[in-house]
Amino acid sequence: MIKVTENFRKIQDLLAKAAADAGRSADQIRLVAVSKTKPAEAVLEAYAAGQRDFGENFVREGLEKIATVNRADAVWHFIGHLQANKTKAVAQHFQWVHTVDRLKIARRLSVQRPHDTDDLNICIEVNIDAEDNKSGVAAAEVADLAAAVAELPRLRLRGLMCLPAIRDDFEEQRRPFARLRALMESLNQSGMQMDTLSMGMTADYAAAIREGATIVRVGTAIFGARE
Ligand SMILES: *Cc1c(COP(=O)(O)O)cnc(C)c1O
Repeated sequence: MIKVTENFRKIQDLLAKAAADAGRSADQIRLVAVSKTKPAEAVLEAYAAGQRDFGENFVREGLEKIATVNRADAVWHFIGHLQANKTKAVAQHFQWVHTVDRLKIARRLSVQRPHDTDDLNICIEVNIDAEDNKSGVAAAEVADLAAAVAELPRLRLRGLMCLPAIRDDFEEQRRPFARLRALMESLNQSGMQMDTLSMGMTADYAAAIREGATIVRVGTAIFGARE
């Protein structure tokens, strides 16, 4: 049995400690509990412990869990690779999409976001280590994409997201996160108004927090290892 409640308390303490080590306040950092491949019961246990933000990678699995969990104040974050033919369900049922990496996807989300709901929160995924096997826009192309996304109705461009290459050393882990932060700062200096850095997972949240993460996406440390 995975002790979700206990794990959740533990990660809250660890995040608070990482924030303190970075000279930051813990309430500047939002924890998204990544529940992919885990059952709705595990999400409900985290919800009962006080967690409200949940991350899902797969559209169909996410929709099923949103329906089963069925809590009006839960906030659902889509954090997986998004195909064009799946945007409509995401626009209807999620509050955040962290993985926009091309304009076509943003345009579809904009058109498909229901008029009677709040704007959909958007992060642009950046392929921060320029890896062949990763999605995300190249760092050099972020400015153009961000400017275009910011113009789209019913979307609210919040910031940048990344999933760096795996590194074990804390100082090494900081580098890609520092680059993402610098990218957002330079875009904000040229007039954008982004407030979100979605970066850091179970293995590297402390380094991400040190570099200014405002959202960390943590799965394993809460729900246990995935199959
Ligand atoms: C799975 C996943 C996470 C969580 O990873 P853990 O190592 O289990 O904390 C975070 N972000 C994305 C995009 C993921 O796919």
